[in-house]
Amino acid sequence: PPYGIFVVWLFPAIIAYLIIQHRFLEISVLLRKSIIYSILIVLVTSFYSMTIFVSQRIFPESLKLNKWLWAFLASLMIAFTLDPLHRLIAIITDKIFFKNRYDYEKTLIQINKAITTIIELDQLTHILKEGLSETVKTKSSDLLILDKSSESYRKQAHRETDESQKKIVLRNNSPLILHLIYTQRPVMTEELEQRLVYHQGTVENLSQLAAVKDELKQYGWALSVPLILKKELIGVLNLGPKLSGDAFSNTDLQLLATLSSQAAVAVENASIYEKEKNLSQAKSEFISVASHRLRTPLSVIKWALSLLDEDKANLSPKQRELVEKALSSNIGLIRLANDLLNVSRIEEKKVVSTLIKIGIENLIKEILEGLSDKIESKKITVKLKLPAKELPRINVDYERMKTAFENIIKNSIIYTPAEGKVIITLALEIDNIIISIKDTGIGIPRLQQNRIFDKFFRADNAIRAYTDGAGLGLFIAKSIIEEHNGQIWFESKHTQGSTFHISLKYK
Ligand code: ADP
Repeated sequence: PPYGIFVVWLFPAIIAYLIIQHRFLEISVLLRKSIIYSILIVLVTSFYSMTIFVSQRIFPESLKLNKWLWAFLASLMIAFTLDPLHRLIAIITDKIFFKNRYDYEKTLIQINKAITTIIELDQLTHILKEGLSETVKTKSSDLLILDKSSESYRKQAHRETDESQKKIVLRNNSPLILHLIYTQRPVMTEELEQRLVYHQGTVENLSQLAAVKDELKQYGWALSVPLILKKELIGVLNLGPKLSGDAFSNTDLQLLATLSSQAAVAVENASIYEKEKNLSQAKSEFISVASHRLRTPLSVIKWALSLLDEDKANLSPKQRELVEKALSSNIGLIRLANDLLNVSRIEEKKVVSTLIKIGIENLIKEILEGLSDKIESKKITVKLKLPAKELPRINVDYERMKTAFENIIKNSIIYTPAEGKVIITLALEIDNIIISIKDTGIGIPRLQQNRIFDKFFRADNAIRAYTDGAGLGLFIAKSIIEEHNGQIWFESKHTQGSTFHISLKYK
């Protein structure tokens, strides 16, 4: 007295300022800040006193600089370390006091990752459910996804864990689905109950809300979040009550709102992928069955034609010519059926290999022998160049490797005009045998070179030069060589020939 009375207003002013500016009444914030500053004060004072103590008591007389100088040095150290220290303590206390917020951020990051990396619906469902049960902490969660063919929303079961669980299917005219399509926002049983008790809405509206509530209760859901993509309801994320028995908080709802729009994109991507996968599997199976079925009748035709061919003496020249043509077309068809079968086996990863040790030069000689008719009829000079040192034998699946080399060497003969040259060189490198097949043929146009190993691709000049190809040989060859951990590449100039190189490990 008497001045105190004049400064009393300062109290509420300061408190009000703290409440507004520094969230003074949020006890966790306050506690956290107090802890940070207490730790800092303890650390700084103990460091300062320790420095002075050590300098004065422990050092010998000669090092006992001026006490003020030590104080200055200690202050300097503190000045430099205080800020990083403050940040470190803040991070630690943040993790303790705002654990929930951290978990939320973690979930969002996880889901975000899932969107860009996971395309299997099954795995996505798993991540969504795990993420949710970890953060929002609910008893259960169900993801229903729109199945356009049956116009309903079906529960996605995670293959490993949910197999035995009951199936849930909501038709697209069920009260909950209609409500979500109409409002496009989450709905909670609690909120519905309140509206029903206080009669918020028209009579008709209320009976609809009651139906929605009943449906939610029937499946044990407390909250239903729509997954909306381009205004269409593509799925529904349903959550059971929280483990703690609390209502869903605003933070929960915020998390779910962000998550649902991300999940919608992810679910859509996964569904598209699933469809594509099924389609491509069906296609592969079809090719596999068709080519299998084709092989037997083709072999019978080949057998019959060969019998006729052997009986040449009894045939007229015209008949002989027809039989030869039929036989060669038949062999072409058998090769095509085999190629198709090979492709579908490669795609379905159903290749079984039995490895044996072979000398690669013998394999090539055998292939050249098989092609000798073609080589002679086109008058192509073929040279096989072996290194001075004997080549090591390598482990390969003989039949498949033969197919691979046959495809490449046959191409060099097919795509080389009559009287051209094919040179096959074998060379030894540190870990690899390099096989190069060089021809003086039509070459590959530069702009089409990057597609040469694609299934069914044939360059324009090749289609003109040789009509019978299917564009499968190099695809098959590359797959087989890569199965053996080898590599294949080529260089070529349009009209000036091509060289294909294959490297195979021998160690
Ligand atoms: P196909 O020979 O049945 O067309 P491949 O898969 O064996 O199928 O080859 C694909 C394409 O690669 C060929 O159509 C051709 O355009 C090109 N090609 C392959 N080998 C050669 C080569 N030695 N010379 C020129 N073009 C080649």
